[in-house]
Amino acid sequence: MAKLTINDLELHGKRLLIRVDYNVPIEEQGGKMVINDDTRIQATLPTLKAAIDKGAKIILTAHLGRPKGKREPSLSLRPVAEKLTKIIGKNVEFCDQCVGDTATEAVSKLENGELLLLENVRYHAEEEANDLDFSKQLAAHADVYLNDAFGAAHRAHASTAGVASVITSRGGQCAAGLLMNRELQFLGEELESPQEPFVVILGGAKVSDKIKVIDRLLEKADTILIGGAMAYTFKLAKGLNVGKSLVERDKVTVAQAALDKAKERNVQFLIPTDNIVAKPIEIDGKFSFGDHHVNDNQNIPDDMEGVDIGPKSIDLFSNVIKEAKTILWNGPMGIFEDQRFSEGTFSVARAVCEATSSGAKSIIGGGDSVKALNKADLGSQVTFMSTGGGASLEFLEGKELPGVAALSDK
Ligand code: AMP
Repeated sequence: MAKLTINDLELHGKRLLIRVDYNVPIEEQGGKMVINDDTRIQATLPTLKAAIDKGAKIILTAHLGRPKGKREPSLSLRPVAEKLTKIIGKNVEFCDQCVGDTATEAVSKLENGELLLLENVRYHAEEEANDLDFSKQLAAHADVYLNDAFGAAHRAHASTAGVASVITSRGGQCAAGLLMNRELQFLGEELESPQEPFVVILGGAKVSDKIKVIDRLLEKADTILIGGAMAYTFKLAKGLNVGKSLVERDKVTVAQAALDKAKERNVQFLIPTDNIVAKPIEIDGKFSFGDHHVNDNQNIPDDMEGVDIGPKSIDLFSNVIKEAKTILWNGPMGIFEDQRFSEGTFSVARAVCEATSSGAKSIIGGGDSVKALNKADLGSQVTFMSTGGGASLEFLEGKELPGVAALSDK
């Protein structure tokens, strides 16, 4: 059922607790913590502006890194409050506690349309334990709860699930922020009955991470394209030689079952017909690759590792992608971090953008595909890029995410 969103709420003068995803990359530079990428902060602006316009008293809660229940100064959210102040052009108060008297006092000082960011909620072990008492302390700050942190919605933590249950049991409203709502719309509703041909592109390191997604999407897709190291486990299932490629030998049966299901359901299931291979070298415990070249053969030589899809596979995959009306892409085609092995991933990215400009809906399921699109400066040319990694995959598997389940139905 559709969830309540911020657009449905009357918020004037209400204390609004918003769970945001401010788990930004941060590092020490010259004695100061510096945020390297503010994409996640920028992504919350539409929700924050809507809340300001509605006259809410805005309390933001988030986590940063893995302090494991301890106060770790390098993981304080203070630099995020400073950054948000600059980006939004309005003062964002910071409180170095997220519960207790100091936090309660900071909340009580808020006027309509003002913002307060609470300290890293993971400084308390009770957050990840989804502790009821801690959830009640967080809930005491608010009249209404909003979740805009899709990337954390697959965890049943106090700030994602517990607090929402407490507010709901008090008769309060819990709704999705605009960012969360877009995730639910594109990863959920749009893929429920996709326009055909529906092409799913999956890559990355492991079959085990994505097999449930493959299994579910085999019910809906017209074609599944497999790249990345995942493809080699499928090659093994087909009785092909994979040389020194990264494989999961214990997942061959699972891969075989997916191939059988594809046949049964008449889903076109393509794995690379050629590859870029390279020789893994170890010198003084350091790994590198040498002698990389195209291997125009389904089998990979014994001493070589498959590191990217080859030119024929790029053509094959690109032609299928360009005919698609709906595209879902998750995972790179090769070790794209190394420029020598990035062509497969970037070619797929270009084909997805081309299909999009011809009218296809392209949905990028988070993680490294988003990184690759941004690296190629193509992020704005797809329909939707998910902000979740693990959360996107679990959602695509068809699981109900605790942070979503906890929100009020419309
Ligand atoms: P995932 O998080 O499962 O999407 O995996 C992404 C990672 O898979 C990236 O860091 C890639 O370098 C890696 N990857 C993709 N293709 C290969 C390959 N052929 N061999 C080893 N690693 C790969």
